[in-house]
Amino acid sequence: MKRFPRLEPTFWDGVVTVFVVLLALAALFGRGGGGASGSISAAVYADGEEIDRVELSSVETVEEREYSGEGYVLRVAFYPDGAQVLSADCPTQDCVRTGKVTRNGQSAVCLPARIVVRLEGGAVPDGAPDAVLG
Ligand SMILES: [Zn+2]
Repeated sequence: MKRFPRLEPTFWDGVVTVFVVLLALAALFGRGGGGASGSISAAVYADGEEIDRVELSSVETVEEREYSGEGYVLRVAFYPDGAQVLSADCPTQDCVRTGKVTRNGQSAVCLPARIVVRLEGGAVPDGAPDAVLG
């Protein structure tokens, strides 16, 4: 009886392991919004430092705040389902053009002011409307 090293089972074990880990991760991330859909918050960073954080679930309709950085002033609106740079006196206006961010991980960045508004925390349910038109 010769012992022959069989690569196949090892290989497939590895694949299965990776697959299971991926599934577990997907389940973790997918479930993130299920139990805690209201826990998303908008963090405001200036020059890389967090200067403010708004719990979106605590916003009733809209809440406006002003932030300044590098001599520029941004007016940011927070909604129950997102955040948006309403106006800014920066030259590029990229932050304003970004519009409303509604999903976890999305951010509106103002490079000249070095200000970032980023959504963090629970995921917004996919069924929720991004914007109410009309
Ligand atoms: Zn800007």
